[in-house]
Formats: sequence, structure tokens, C-alpha cells
Amino acid sequence: MKTALLPLGLEGLTAWMQEHNWPRFHARQVWHWVLARRCRDFAQMSDLPKRLRQELSENFEFFATQLVQTHRAKDGTCKLLLRLSDGETVECVLIPERDRRTACVSTQVGCGMGCVFCASGLNGWARNLAWWEILEQLLRLVDQLPAPERLSHVVVMGMGEPLANLDNLLLALKWATARHGLGLSQRHVTISTVGLPAKIRQLADQQLSYHLAVSLHAPNDELRTRLVPTNAKVGIAAILEAAEYYFRKTGRQVTYEYVLLRGINDGTEQARELARLLSGRCAHVNLIPFNDIPGLPYRRPSDAALGQFQQILRQHGVSVTVRKRKGSEIEAACGQLRRQRLESARNPAALAAANSA
Ligand code: SAH
Repeated sequence: MKTALLPLGLEGLTAWMQEHNWPRFHARQVWHWVLARRCRDFAQMSDLPKRLRQELSENFEFFATQLVQTHRAKDGTCKLLLRLSDGETVECVLIPERDRRTACVSTQVGCGMGCVFCASGLNGWARNLAWWEILEQLLRLVDQLPAPERLSHVVVMGMGEPLANLDNLLLALKWATARHGLGLSQRHVTISTVGLPAKIRQLADQQLSYHLAVSLHAPNDELRTRLVPTNAKVGIAAILEAAEYYFRKTGRQVTYEYVLLRGINDGTEQARELARLLSGRCAHVNLIPFNDIPGLPYRRPSDAALGQFQQILRQHGVSVTVRKRKGSEIEAACGQLRRQRLESARNPAALAAANSA
């Protein structure tokens, strides 16, 4: 059986070189070929001795995950379902847009935060992803791009709560942004969090310049706790304080995400309350019209409500954008594809019926 290369890391690969009587620097060369040069064939690593290339291909395969499904939407969005070595599955998405090539990655199998409108948490939390399982998602997505193209942006907005798996995330992002890795700019990486104040501070102290997005979704604690249950023991005030700490430490403006749910948090009163909460802070609001999820009772806001919400924030001097909808026909909203697969494993007849309907 071959060993997967990525989980070894550069250190493990260096140790392997030593054990097999090869100079240590060959490890860095291999790592560079795989991450920076997109090479998936040891035979083509032309600056390595032929015998080493052969030894590597006899002993190693590149990935620890298996690609089990590829869904490509007409707008170019491409969603992958990967099977991990323990049989769990995880999703990632490639979103090509003009000059951007954005990868959206997951950090956990399932999610423990329990946001009521999100598909990722509906089946609970299973485990954290290892750093290489996060990095593999990026490499699998890179492999979907035509040869000269590279990833330009990463959004950590797939399944899971990134700050609840911060150590693994930081290691994966280290390789995403390293010159000998995927070479992305730190400023083009966005980490989206439900809002864990201690972890936001820990991230702020790393002297990195990742962009932070906080999922606010409501202008007061009463409503937020209904939508985002973890809010009960955190509270909006502590999140805003931590976000301001992040801004002071990194100089990067924090984005507040706000999923608009029809008749629940999309009213003019909530827009005013949100404006009062955020005006005077260096904040940007990203409004996200709810992506429908079968089985959940929530709906997207009307266009009029969306327009009004946006206008009220603007009138109060709060900078605001609306997230574009991408890949909806391939169920690109977080957690949907995995959930469909779990459901079909449990009830194959129901899925077959739904698909033929
Ligand atoms: N755990 C992280 C990442 C979640 S995914 C977080 O809470 O931020 C990124 C964003 O998509 C979050 O703001 C999340 O609340 C939102 N989201 C989840 N389900 C959604 C849906 N069905 N429609 C629109 N946005 C959704």
C-alpha cells in the first residue's frame, strides 16, 4: 500500500529522505513541485534523480482523500465531495469570477454551532479536519482549473466553524500563502466565524493579515440567540469587542455577515437597529439572501425587503454589499451536498424519487 504524501508534511518527507539516504533538500523540491507547480506525477519532477523519482512513485500517492463527486454549474462554479480516509465526506467549492478564482473550504465534518438555517450543522459535528485535509481541498480545487490558472482567493466558508479548529486551519493556510506553497496573498484569505471571542483574539495575535468575517445575522441578542444558539453564552457585545481588537491588531476591517431570512430578521426595524449597532465602528456588512434548504422553514427575503435593508444601512453610513448567488443549482450552499449524500444512504428510495421528480 502506498502512503499519502500530504499528511507527512515537509518535515515527514524530509525525515523519509534521510531514512532512505537521500539529501534532505529533495524533500523541499518535492513539496514545491506538488504545491507550487501543480505536479501530480513523480516522473515529471525533472530536477530529482531518476532513481528517487521511481522510489517516490513506488512508495507514495499524493492525496489522502478520494474525489467522489464533481458538480459543475453553468456559471462555472464547481463543487467537489471528498471522501476522507475514515469514510467521512467533506465539501469544497471553486468559484471562478472574472479575474478571481476563489476556493471555499470546509474545516470540520459537520458543525457543532447549530445555526438554525444552516445545512452543515443539521446532522451535528463529527470531527475536526486535519490540516492536510484542508490543504487537500485547495489542491483538488486547483486541479479543476485549466493549466495556467491559479487560485487567487480562499474563503473559509464551507462546513464547520473554522475558529473551533484554528490550529489545523492556520497550518493549512500557512501552505496556501507560502511562496513555496500555493502563493496566495494573506489579504485574499477570508475566515468566516460564528464569533468565538477568545479565538478571534488568538487569531489577531498571530501577526497575519487574513480577512475576518463575523456571522452576526441579528442586531440584538434575543434574536441572535434564536438563530445562532451559541450566542446564548457569548453575546453580541463580546463579539464586537473581539472584532475591534482584531481590527486594531491587524489593521484589517472586519466584515459582518448577515443572512436575510424572510419575516425573521429582514425588517426595516432590524436594519435600523443593525445600523445603530455598527455605525461608528470600522465595519462592513455583507448581506446574504438565504439559500433555500429543503426541509427548513426559512425563505429568502423579497427583493424589496433586501433593497430597503441595504438602503437603511447606507443612509446610516454603514458600508454594505450583497453577496451574489453562485452555484445554486448544484447546491453549493454549505453542507448541502454532504447532507444529500447522508440522506440518500439512510433512505435511498426517497432520494431516487426526489431526483426523478
Ligand atoms: N461557521 C462559519 C462558516 C459558515 S458558512 C460561520 O458561522 O461564519 C459562511 C456563511 O454562510 C455564514 O455566515 C453562515 O451563517 C452562512 N450560511 C449558512 N447557511 C446558509 C444558507 N442556507 N443561506 C445563506 N447563508 C448561509
